[in-house]
Amino acid sequence: MNNTQSTDLIFDISKPGRRCHRLPACDVPTKPAAELLPKRFLADRPPPLPEVGEIDLIRHYMNLSARNMCIDTNFYPLGSCTMKYNPKRHERIAADPGFADLHPLQDDSTTQGMLELLYGMQEYLCEISGLPAVSLQPAAGAQGELTALFVAAAYFKDKGETHRRKVLVPDSAHGTNPASAALAGFETVTIKSGANGLVDLEDLKAKLGDDTAVFMITNPNTLGLFETQIKTITDLLHSKGGLVYLDGANMNAILGITRPGDFGADMQHYNVHKTFTGPHGGGGPGSGPITVRDFLAPYLPAPVVRKKGDQFYLDHNMPKSIGRVRSFFGTIGILFRGYCYIRTLGPDGLKNVSEQAVLNANYLRARVSEGYEVPHPGPCMHEFVATARNLVREKKVRAMDIAKRLLDFGFHAPTVYFPLVVPEALMMEPTETESKETLDAFADALLKIKEEDAEMVRNAPHTHTISRADEVKAAKEPILRWTAKHDSQGKIAD
Ligand SMILES: *Cc1c(COP(=O)(O)O)cnc(C)c1O
Repeated sequence: MNNTQSTDLIFDISKPGRRCHRLPACDVPTKPAAELLPKRFLADRPPPLPEVGEIDLIRHYMNLSARNMCIDTNFYPLGSCTMKYNPKRHERIAADPGFADLHPLQDDSTTQGMLELLYGMQEYLCEISGLPAVSLQPAAGAQGELTALFVAAAYFKDKGETHRRKVLVPDSAHGTNPASAALAGFETVTIKSGANGLVDLEDLKAKLGDDTAVFMITNPNTLGLFETQIKTITDLLHSKGGLVYLDGANMNAILGITRPGDFGADMQHYNVHKTFTGPHGGGGPGSGPITVRDFLAPYLPAPVVRKKGDQFYLDHNMPKSIGRVRSFFGTIGILFRGYCYIRTLGPDGLKNVSEQAVLNANYLRARVSEGYEVPHPGPCMHEFVATARNLVREKKVRAMDIAKRLLDFGFHAPTVYFPLVVPEALMMEPTETESKETLDAFADALLKIKEEDAEMVRNAPHTHTISRADEVKAAKEPILRWTAKHDSQGKIAD
């Protein structure tokens, strides 16, 4: 890191009179603010803004940005989140003013290019999932889950089956699954995993009933294991009149190899920002389109993009639709990048992505197993879960300590403490684009940390500006920009 002018606050480098801009003289008649505004709105002095020259300004922000870890600077094996490399060519295409400067309220006749692209994306998502109807609206995977559960509720209501109040969720599921079920007004029932990490069929049979609305399943699941009994599971659900929802966050493992529609899922979401390379991190931006079976299509959020002759249009005429779940057409920028990614790779390329992702995960799994316990049998799919429970016992080093120490080696941490079914979980997903050298360097770092002085590991990281932040406070009260302090009269304070 460059130490020149490396400081948190730009005010620290402010010197009176320094500037990096010069404004032209105003060339329209003006009146003094005092004549235009009531006195109580007038400031008694200018705001205390920082005064810096251009080169100092640039260095300040470059240095700040370099403190962040991102996929373009560091290996980022955050399990379940699929932190993929985002091809720069797609960034350039998405920034093309012909697309980027469109206004969402323009008439359809002037946005045919964008509508064609969204229509194409709808077609690809249907084909890849094996489910024929789609909504691009949901803004993230979690909202896709919620939308699909609203669709399911509308479907059952239409059929007069409002007694179906229960949504079944495996204990290895992502926390968004039960949260979405609760938000959609269902009651959540947890299904146990067996010792092999897969859904416990007996527990499912015992809890499945005429009151079951939906079974939400992640396949491959969050332990990185393919649910081999998936067809039995979906048949069981259908025999009781229930629906199967596939949490598609792990689609990166099965693209072009198997399709949720083929193994019996009735609805699924994609995380376009994960599987199809939308840059994400720090909470967004997301895109969570859903695909569903034909009998659920009438309930999807309106509008959807349709084609008549060679014209594309937004179809609002969907009387049974659950309505909008997001403004305009969804997170267009991320859908756009996903479209570019699918078109660039084509069917064979997508299949190859999954094959390489699974190969990389299995290689890393084998290397990590040299020093860490990996509780579930391999081979894994695109990710796997190791545990630090032995280290806790032997030297009181926790999964979080390992995650923090990895930062000193230049690696972003894996996902920790998830899934909940594995204590001291370290969930790793290398993705397909990482080289063998990177995987080896990461595994070597993990093996080295295991042997290091416990006290030193517990106090890591040692090479970063901040060591251990209060993560709850950082998430709940983020300070993302400077705001002037005001006194009780609303005047700018010192
Ligand atoms: C990421 C993820 C989700 C939630 O998706 P968001 O796009 O973050 O809302 C749900 N389930 C699993 C398994 C995930 O990894």
